[in-house]
Amino acid sequence: MATQFDVIIIGGGAAGIGAARRLAAHGASALLLEASPRLGGRAYTQDLGGYPLDLGCEWLHSGDRNAWVGIAEASGFPVDRGDPPWSKAHPAIAEDNDDKEAAWRAYGAWEERLRAVASGSDRTSDALEPGGTWNAYVRAIAGFMSGVAPEEISATDYMAYDTASTGLNWNVPLGYGTLVAASLPSSVTLRLATPVERINLTADGVAISTRTGTVRAGAAILTVSTAVLTGDAIRLPAGTVPWREAAAALPLGRNEKVFLEIGRDTAFEPDAHAYGNLHDPRSASYSIRPNGWPVIEAFLGGEGARILEEEGPAAGFAYVSAELVALFGSDVASAIRPLAATAWSRMASIGGAYSCALPGQSQARARLAQPFEDRLFFAGEATHPFDFTTAHGAHDSGQRAADEAMDALHGRQRFARRGHVAAKGMQSVR
Ligand SMILES: Cc1cc2nc3c(=O)[nH]c(=O)nc-3n(C[C@H](O)[C@H](O)[C@H](O)COP(=O)(O)OP(=O)(O)OC[C@H]3O[C@@H](n4cnc5c(N)ncnc54)[C@H](O)[C@@H]3O)c2cc1C
Repeated sequence: MATQFDVIIIGGGAAGIGAARRLAAHGASALLLEASPRLGGRAYTQDLGGYPLDLGCEWLHSGDRNAWVGIAEASGFPVDRGDPPWSKAHPAIAEDNDDKEAAWRAYGAWEERLRAVASGSDRTSDALEPGGTWNAYVRAIAGFMSGVAPEEISATDYMAYDTASTGLNWNVPLGYGTLVAASLPSSVTLRLATPVERINLTADGVAISTRTGTVRAGAAILTVSTAVLTGDAIRLPAGTVPWREAAAALPLGRNEKVFLEIGRDTAFEPDAHAYGNLHDPRSASYSIRPNGWPVIEAFLGGEGARILEEEGPAAGFAYVSAELVALFGSDVASAIRPLAATAWSRMASIGGAYSCALPGQSQARARLAQPFEDRLFFAGEATHPFDFTTAHGAHDSGQRAADEAMDALHGRQRFARRGHVAAKGMQSVR
């Protein structure tokens, strides 16, 4: 049966849109199937209280080599290259600077010890100082970075991201999610609210089944999260067990956000930062009045994000409100009110925040990125060798998969042409 498209992309997050942009540049025909009623996946800007707030990705990490910066500027999205708020401590907090510096030094020393751990157990918790004063702080930062406890993090993987990062964190005031969702080329056919249920290989490509029927193409690019890959929502072709095993070695951690509205004039300084409690591994990182907006954004990772996942948004609001009262005084309690809380871990089409390699499993990213039978190509943040956990890593993985798919299609066309010529030759001999 004739194929309807050159390539079908499954998933309309940063990776799917990165793939779509590359396929459009190749002049290929492409269909993008997205399960949810919106584009962007873990890139999602919502208008909350009148402000474009990012529920998922927000920072253009490694800004000087982040593909989304060029895309933003080419499409008229301003990019803020200023320092992120976490570089500016809120002046009203009576912080103990000695303690803060000691905690930060302890984190640096832990990172140094990861090198030795990487060549042994590869378990980042083995780099914690037994009974160390600042272990709770190290756990909290590792939670922000990976979404899980250090016992579940590969030291090799953790260091690969750190080594490659350029440390420049830029921002799109209109929202990273707005930018990603606006970047699908118009030449790509889009079907929203169309979850893929099954992928089969055919003689000339793939057959992709959804509730509304089956579509065929020369190749497919699968960009869903590792939680979706290991679940049972999509039936993958026989022979893909090693890909599912690789995805299982790269589980999604927990990271969630809680947004609070500042209801009346307070002493909150704009574009400032606060850290909840250096001695609590659940503690949140607070962005105070980002872009001058009357909003506080609390970012929770690992143990902190577990509060939201297991106890729900009310418990999350209560936890961050208590931390803010402890930092700024009891007056703030009447000045802040809940605005929104995320639930990435509970969302069936995502299932968590971002991937983290289990100890000894850093090679799983390369295994997951392998093409299957030159028909099915894998992309998504988890497949990037060092920019995993990010929207720019997801984008670049989509572009890599698009190039692989096009190479495979061209290879098959060349093979078919040669076969045709050979058949013609045989006929003339007869
Ligand atoms: C709280 C939080 C904060 C973050 N902060 C940052 C940050 O500051 N900077 C940064 O760079 N990154 C950040 N990230 C990570 C970043 O958002 C992700 O790495 C990136 O967006 C992942 O893109 P993706 O395309 O790989 O996956 P996804 O965005 O998950 O896209 C996959 C898509 O597949 C769809 N899908 C699932 N199942 C099916 C199906 N059966 N059929 C069709 N479609 C399906 C999903 O709905 C989804 O849209 C953050 C993430 C979170 C959760």
